[in-house]
Amino acid sequence: MPLNFTSKEVSILLKLIKGIEVYSPKYLGIKDVLIVGDKIGKIDDEVDILGVEVEIIDGKGKRLLPGFIDSHVHITGGGGEGGFKTRTPEIVLSDVIKGGITTIVGTLGTDGITRSLENLYAKAKSLEEEGITTFIYTGSYRVPPVTFTGSIMKDLILIDKVVGVGEIALSDHRSSQPTIEEIKRLVADARVSGILSGKAGVVNIHMGDGEEGLDMLMEIVDTTEIPITQFYPTHVNRNPYLFRQGIEFAKMGGFIDFTTSSDPVFYEEGEVKASKALKKCIEDDLEDNVTLTSDGQGSLPKFNEKRELVGLQVGRVTTLFKEVRDAVFDGVPLEKAIKAITVNPAKILKLSSKGYIKEGYDADMVLIDEEYNIDTVIAKGRIMMKDKKILTYGTFE
Ligand code: ZN
Repeated sequence: MPLNFTSKEVSILLKLIKGIEVYSPKYLGIKDVLIVGDKIGKIDDEVDILGVEVEIIDGKGKRLLPGFIDSHVHITGGGGEGGFKTRTPEIVLSDVIKGGITTIVGTLGTDGITRSLENLYAKAKSLEEEGITTFIYTGSYRVPPVTFTGSIMKDLILIDKVVGVGEIALSDHRSSQPTIEEIKRLVADARVSGILSGKAGVVNIHMGDGEEGLDMLMEIVDTTEIPITQFYPTHVNRNPYLFRQGIEFAKMGGFIDFTTSSDPVFYEEGEVKASKALKKCIEDDLEDNVTLTSDGQGSLPKFNEKRELVGLQVGRVTTLFKEVRDAVFDGVPLEKAIKAITVNPAKILKLSSKGYIKEGYDADMVLIDEEYNIDTVIAKGRIMMKDKKILTYGTFE
């Protein structure tokens, strides 16, 4: 039976970005990009939709990037290390959109008691209903981890939103001080569940300031068959020693993640600014092994010039692209820098339709202006922000 659509019915499915510099992340030149529903339909020198009215987005003077993936965000809030009143609030949609983020991975954190996986799941579902793509990690800092079903294997295999385990804390005074045998078993279980479910099954590891750094992970890689890519350590730019060890880990084929939420005081204490860490990795030919995440909604102590604690701030997802931008201003080519928040996390987390401006992929995109400011954000074909103005707010904003 032939399907008859009126041109008006077709036109609501279509959006056409005209004459924009496309970074897929690879630079493709100036192109037209047609969005069909929630997918990228066509990328060509010129795309014309004859006889159908279509919403045109003028790309002149702008650059088109894949929507950003932030794979470590405390979407239900985090913190609480200074007592109940320091529990940070939930994220709201407009913050995510302002940051150009179209895919987010939610994680619990230090507190797996007053914060639950069920709540994390519900928040992820609500952000998805509001228009972006979401996933979650099962577990919290602690080993044995909190789970939905009593087993991380069942969680990974049976719950669609769960793509890995984390953040499991190591080398930190707040970690549960797990033994190497416990971590081996945990990572092995995550790996097998990933194989069985076609998911990543990575273990996102919160790295603290402890002297042992990545030693335990290195030992597991040396003494078992578990591939190094099963680990996804984060906060690796926390101090110079951990950063150097992280570079070695990446040279062995591992993935490392740098945190973008910070305070300038921390840089004086040795934290490596994420943009500098990214630059160093790209100079060392490790551009495929590195990601940036914001640690958004995590708690961030705020100090004055005398280094007195004057309050707590909340980590912001908007720092994610800010650090990429700083790296670009520091001489890193844009097409290399954006890999850390697009194709690399998509690969590590096995998100098959994310991370690229490519025909058939999800229409998740960010348009930036000449000064590298986020101008327009499109999530699954829907325009969430245009000309720097938020069009879609969260339900209670
Ligand atoms: Zn952490």
